[in-house]
Amino acid sequence: MIHKLKELEIISRQLEPTARQRKATRKKVISYSEDFLKQIEKLKAYETKADKGIALLNSPISEHPINIVEALNLIKQNVDSQGLNPASGGHLGYIPGGGIYYSALGDYLADITNRFAGIFFASPGAVRMENMLIAWMLKILGYPRNAAGNLTSGGSIANLIAIVTARDAKEINSKNITKSVIYLSQQAHHSVQKAIRIAGLNECILRYIKLDSAYRIVASELENLIKKDKKNGLNPCLIIASAGTTDVGAIDPLNEIANIAIRHKLWFHVDAAYGGFFILTNEGKKKLTGIEKSDSISIDPHKGLFLPYGSGAVLIKDISQMKKSHSYLANYMQDALSSTDEYSPADLSPELTKHFRGLRLWLPLKLHGTKPFVACLEEKLLLTKYFYQKIQKLGFEIECEPELSVVTYRYIPKKGDPDLFNKRLVEEVQKDGRVFITSTMLNGKFTLRLAILAFRTHLKTINLTLKILKEKVKLLEK
Ligand SMILES: *Cc1c(COP(=O)(O)O)cnc(C)c1O
Repeated sequence: MIHKLKELEIISRQLEPTARQRKATRKKVISYSEDFLKQIEKLKAYETKADKGIALLNSPISEHPINIVEALNLIKQNVDSQGLNPASGGHLGYIPGGGIYYSALGDYLADITNRFAGIFFASPGAVRMENMLIAWMLKILGYPRNAAGNLTSGGSIANLIAIVTARDAKEINSKNITKSVIYLSQQAHHSVQKAIRIAGLNECILRYIKLDSAYRIVASELENLIKKDKKNGLNPCLIIASAGTTDVGAIDPLNEIANIAIRHKLWFHVDAAYGGFFILTNEGKKKLTGIEKSDSISIDPHKGLFLPYGSGAVLIKDISQMKKSHSYLANYMQDALSSTDEYSPADLSPELTKHFRGLRLWLPLKLHGTKPFVACLEEKLLLTKYFYQKIQKLGFEIECEPELSVVTYRYIPKKGDPDLFNKRLVEEVQKDGRVFITSTMLNGKFTLRLAILAFRTHLKTINLTLKILKEKVKLLEK
């Protein structure tokens, strides 16, 4: 047995590279990432290649190791030079963010030390750090200090945690589910619909509230619906609004909706995954008034704080409700019970063991301070106004005035079908690849979107975008 153990040890010790091996491997990785960053201004925002990374499959997972140079080549050819480049400032589609550098170093440290950030007993420091970040978000959003939250992988899980908490707080169960009513907007992000289904609330009645011409919920309409539903013996329980819709960046009238929710005792959830961090700017603060009266908020640091993907957050005003849905006691966890200075993330989310994702947010906030983040958000709001003015001068029609950093616009060609023309236009811009824009359907019309939130997007990027759009329109009108 000893002999076998020694034999196995020799092989298993390969999992611990020597300091020299670490250094050599790290050097290659750093040099790869530095090359990427040096070229970031020149790299395309979108790249189509016929092979779509298929060559990755020619190097299957097997007993046979490859070296770091080969590995980096596989990544470069098949992953990093294909499709969308979200690190590019030219990423102006969906909702961008970018991926700031110090987060990568935070992740690096978190992975090396591998602190267990799920439970206070296991890593008091890691949990304090995560709770401190939550406390900072509570403060900027105007929630009380005794509210709680959780750092999630993104807005989708944040919405899920909030909706599950709302479900239990409002005691929606098999007896009343078919009479329970959820109010939302057709413009709600699809992760909200997913969360409703995953939370087992599919049998609830979903009421889509009428929207105004800027795609915002009409609050009076909401109240009328609630009153009518109550009169008919139904159980109005949850309102979901957006603070920045993905489609057009619309902010629902949060203050009015909050008052309605309070009056009628409904849970009020605000999906601020996209727009939440604009509250750090003066303009955003005014526009998000009322968000502090909600019961729960989703907010995405991988959007509004420009972190790499994998960082969302959910904030919930009543921690006892959050615990009721998410905490669990298991015998093998009993040692953890003695340490309760701070609440543990594992008691407030479906996760137990999780990535120590606080560090990727804490490190950049500490190393930069908050000022450049605020400036970057202000810059994005101003760039949006700039694009909005210039694009109209190029003869484009505007679908609605931008509230945050999304512009919706379309070109009306001299002849032919405008929908087809704009479809071709977005395809041409994507094929060009220097910038990446996307499209949507608004009022049944094919509409182009520009979403400005990547931290590397500056005036130069927007001027380039205008130039490309002008070029492509000319090409298509020929
Ligand atoms: C992006 C987004 C989501 C989903 O967040 P993920 O981080 O992609 O999971 C939810 N709601 C809104 C408004 C969003 O913009």
